[in-house]
Amino acid sequence: MKLKGDPSTTRAMNRRLILNLLRQEGARSRADIASVTGLSPAAVTFVVADLIEDGLLIEGKTVVGSAGRRPIPVDINYANGLAIGFKLMVGSVECVVTDLATNPLGSLRVKLSDSDPDHIIATLAKAVPELISIVDRPAAKLAGIGVSMPGVIDNQKAVCIRSNRYNWDNIPLGPMLAELVDVPVWLEDDTNAYAIAQQLFGLGRQHRNMAVLAIGVGIGCALVFDGKLYRGANGAAGKFGHSSYEENGRLCECGKRGCLMAYYAEPAILRTWREATGHNETDSKVSLMAALADREPRAVAILEEAGHGIGRHLANLVNITDPEVIVVGGEAVSFGDALFGPMRLTLGKNTFRAAPPMLLDWEDNSWARGAAALVTQKLFDFETSAGNAAPLSKPALWSA
Ligand SMILES: [Zn+2]
Repeated sequence: MKLKGDPSTTRAMNRRLILNLLRQEGARSRADIASVTGLSPAAVTFVVADLIEDGLLIEGKTVVGSAGRRPIPVDINYANGLAIGFKLMVGSVECVVTDLATNPLGSLRVKLSDSDPDHIIATLAKAVPELISIVDRPAAKLAGIGVSMPGVIDNQKAVCIRSNRYNWDNIPLGPMLAELVDVPVWLEDDTNAYAIAQQLFGLGRQHRNMAVLAIGVGIGCALVFDGKLYRGANGAAGKFGHSSYEENGRLCECGKRGCLMAYYAEPAILRTWREATGHNETDSKVSLMAALADREPRAVAILEEAGHGIGRHLANLVNITDPEVIVVGGEAVSFGDALFGPMRLTLGKNTFRAAPPMLLDWEDNSWARGAAALVTQKLFDFETSAGNAAPLSKPALWSA
């Protein structure tokens, strides 16, 4: 007999089919689920009962209208659990606690005094009870923790293979944190985690093929092909910001010279602005935003150049991967049309077919919600890849 967690069983596939339908479409009756999925009514009844028993689905109320009793809808039991998301940054961690649909219920920002792994892991473990205490849901259990950080990640083992920003090599962050907090911990590259959140509940919900561009401290691009995140052979796919922009140019954090992100990630844009105006470091974003609002020519030109520069590389990516949409997030979204106007223009000029729509994500907490989405994704078994490892320990919800 195959185990419950084996993703290749018919039972696991039927569970995934029903959960994904409800995630995309909202509550449905058993009869609707059968007609949309093509499963037999008996199979739907069986799988739904199983998912209700596991606490993953919940029955709605019977509606009695003029046409008599309507069938009882079932929906995903998003309120039954909590997920914590940690987005590691230089000097601080953005922390969020969400329900299982990644709706934020509370957030914190904690400081990091250095990038020593033991210090960071201890800081994360300390934040867990603090986050739980700000949510007033005594019945909801913590289902797990998702951690996102920039780097090359082995997401199955929850190990950071290499992070330039922290100068880490082979740090088993997931297992180390799981030992302290006693819930499953998942680790993912920050842009990939962000893409998973967009795919599950965000702008990518209805799209099977998309590129997710994140412009913040770096420039990353996650790729979703046929509904599945593409990680590459070494977990290093999507390092878009390290495309060569100028030979022997500015030094990049990766140690090479001339990478795209050394020019057009947000800190690099701010550096160009400071060099052009002599503004000091602490007010450079504020002063650039104010100058953009006044259409100050130097500010407009800097963002135009960035838009064209990123757009040209993005066009290459579109020509190679043919996404339905490009979802864009990260701190640089706040530059708005000053950056994305020129980017759309250059993209349109350089793509083989008409350029796909660029959808900007303006939500707060997007990065940390992305980390929390790692929990939802694994808990609900949304990932279709058969190669994904089981959680590091049994999720709290399943032990109920
Ligand atoms: Zn680089």
